[in-house]
Amino acid sequence: MSKKNSLILQVAVPKPLYSHFDYLPPVGIKRNQLQPGIRLRVPFGKKQTYVGMLLGVAETTTVAVEKLKAVKEIIDKVPILSEESLNLLQWASRYYHHPIGEVIRTALPTSLNKGLSAEIPLLRGWKLTAEGLAQPLDKLPKNAHRQQAVLNFLRQHPQGISHIAIINQLSTHINATLRTLEKKEWIRHQLMANTPKVVDIPQSPPLQLNAAQTKVVNQVLAQLRQFSPGLLDGVTGSGKTEVYLQIIQKVIEADRQALILVPEINLTPQIVNRFKRRFAVPIGVWHSKLTVQERLHTWLLARDGITPIVIGTRSAIWTPLARPGIFIVDEEHDPSYKQQDHFRYSARDIAVVRAQRAQVPILLGSATPSLDTLYNAQQQRYEHFVLPERAGIAVHPTFHLVDMRLPSYKKESLSLPLKKAISQRLAAHQQVLLFINRRGYAPLLMCYKCGWVAFCQHCDARLTYHESNQRLFCHHCGDSRLLDTQCPNCQHPKLFLLGQGTERVEEQLQKQFPDARILRIDSDSTRRKYAMEKLLERIHKGEVDILVGTQMLAKGHHFPKVTLVGVINIDGGLYGVDFRDTERMAQLLVQVAGRAGRANEPGEVIIQTYHPDHPLLTRLIRQGYATFAEAALKERQTAAFPPFSRLALLRVEATERDKAMDFLNKAKMQIQQCDEVQLWGPVAAPMERRDKWYRAQILLQSEQRDVLHRLLSQWLPTLPALASHSVRWSLDVDPQDLH
Ligand code: ADP
Ligand code: ZN
Ligand code: ZN
Repeated sequence: MSKKNSLILQVAVPKPLYSHFDYLPPVGIKRNQLQPGIRLRVPFGKKQTYVGMLLGVAETTTVAVEKLKAVKEIIDKVPILSEESLNLLQWASRYYHHPIGEVIRTALPTSLNKGLSAEIPLLRGWKLTAEGLAQPLDKLPKNAHRQQAVLNFLRQHPQGISHIAIINQLSTHINATLRTLEKKEWIRHQLMANTPKVVDIPQSPPLQLNAAQTKVVNQVLAQLRQFSPGLLDGVTGSGKTEVYLQIIQKVIEADRQALILVPEINLTPQIVNRFKRRFAVPIGVWHSKLTVQERLHTWLLARDGITPIVIGTRSAIWTPLARPGIFIVDEEHDPSYKQQDHFRYSARDIAVVRAQRAQVPILLGSATPSLDTLYNAQQQRYEHFVLPERAGIAVHPTFHLVDMRLPSYKKESLSLPLKKAISQRLAAHQQVLLFINRRGYAPLLMCYKCGWVAFCQHCDARLTYHESNQRLFCHHCGDSRLLDTQCPNCQHPKLFLLGQGTERVEEQLQKQFPDARILRIDSDSTRRKYAMEKLLERIHKGEVDILVGTQMLAKGHHFPKVTLVGVINIDGGLYGVDFRDTERMAQLLVQVAGRAGRANEPGEVIIQTYHPDHPLLTRLIRQGYATFAEAALKERQTAAFPPFSRLALLRVEATERDKAMDFLNKAKMQIQQCDEVQLWGPVAAPMERRDKWYRAQILLQSEQRDVLHRLLSQWLPTLPALASHSVRWSLDVDPQDLH
């Protein structure tokens, strides 16, 4: 039923609704106060109200008008998001088949979701008038050195500067001076945005580019006003960041903004500092360890075009830009760009879409590009830029495989060749980095007598012993308990801790090299704010001889003094259950290896493995990542896995095993099957029980994206009716792991 001539407000409400929700406007509101992109407070359900966003105004509705509720309050006078931003969010909602209200909630800073002000808080500040600027400073009375100081300082800040900055720079007793100068009309008050601090003189001028870098920079600069996607494929240390910096220089000069994504929160200070040393402009920073206010500030300044540069982790991709000029995704292969819960978007893919919509370039940089991106380059959808050599004087590291099957290594985590190499580096006062992809002490507690193994009571997962807490931990649900003193099954008094984690390797190193200064870096040792910064500082100061760590160490950090990298065990990735596991293993290995010999000492990489003949491993080591990737892509093609097909994964979790399967069986019957879409399942998830929930899934695969998406559009609306408080489901479009 519909009724004409009353305005119907289409509102995105932060609830799992696949479409907008219709409301009536509050009384006395004019049409021009109802711009899409404003926030509204709306009633929903029995008693609750939510902050929703106006998507559109219509004259008809499919709901009976008498049943519509009225909006409680209009929060914003003007839209907080531009039409382009709103369109992007609606596109993302359709592409990921995720409720629009939840998409918007993900994309907005917390304070805006709560309905707080979307205007930049202004600071009191001062600026020179034309008259003030014209005053010859030496003509001031002798005792007026304070006035002189203020005028001098303001001349260095022609756009004006905040009151607080003047006080910080000059003195707290400057108020009277400011008033005097104001009376003379040499300076005047102004309100100004509290922009991030800018260093006055950038200390690191652009470097002379090599030929390969020049080619990239020139080609991108020639296409600054069009969508020109490029893969920047350059080994670690080949000068990718320098390329970003020099392109961004021109983008800023053209009065446009650059958005740079980095994969890891711990990498942001490093890259932000490098940018600050190059550019005297305010830089917006966005990551999860910032306060709610700090993030809001970054978001607003970027939206209003005040920060020419914004750097952040995954969710920074939602920062609106007034004048987008370029998008850069560093380490584009990194799995952290895909959100793994709720709204499962890929920030890298969104970045490409944003660049396309804004008609600007995008650079996807990596030493180990994802197979997806390499394929796009092969298909000539992306330009393929290669930086084949390390910039400066550093040379590529050499690789050695150590066969851990040799009987003499059986019980040790450090093989003889690795120990020898470590001793040599220690003697030469160089740093060593040891990589092991597991935190804690030992991943297995076992009874040799009856074979009992310590499992989590909530998950199908073994417990890892952590020496630092003296407890067993589940890495999947976080549950922990004390170490058993005897076997709970056969009461045997002795239990064994098997396998290696970072803590155990650290302990063994300490025994083997008692004089060495050893530092462990994993998510346990870096949990507190700034912990990582402090550890990195010690490394750079040379206060550390051996670094032991997880993949946190593998990503992007520069350790110029590291000349030896040891990989304790790479085998997990060789025989994983997921078709992406080998790709991930290869990327990780190359990234860790890239930490070695970045300055003037050649690096060496020693890899311990029980599978020294594994073809992928040997190809990777002998012929390099590009050859490996080519072979891996061929395998994907044979199996019709992505990027040769598209996937969507329907995941279900239930309090009982049967309920999960039951849901999926019913769901499967609702699918309008077609030949172009293959359906796998329902099957139990590889880890069936996690955090007390039983998990199962259906995988959909198709070589035609639009056919798959059409099917999803028809299918998903039928699912909510099957769910209950004991069964929940989610859809993962382009899943990055099938676990
Ligand atoms: P990537 O981002 O690929 O790891 P970087 O841009 O960080 O590479 O460069 C690695 C090192 O080489 C840095 O110390 C950088 O200052 C230096 N570098 C980069 N480009 C040049 C160049 N053209 N000439 C000399 N040194 C360079
Ligand atoms: Zn036992
Ligand atoms: Zn658990």
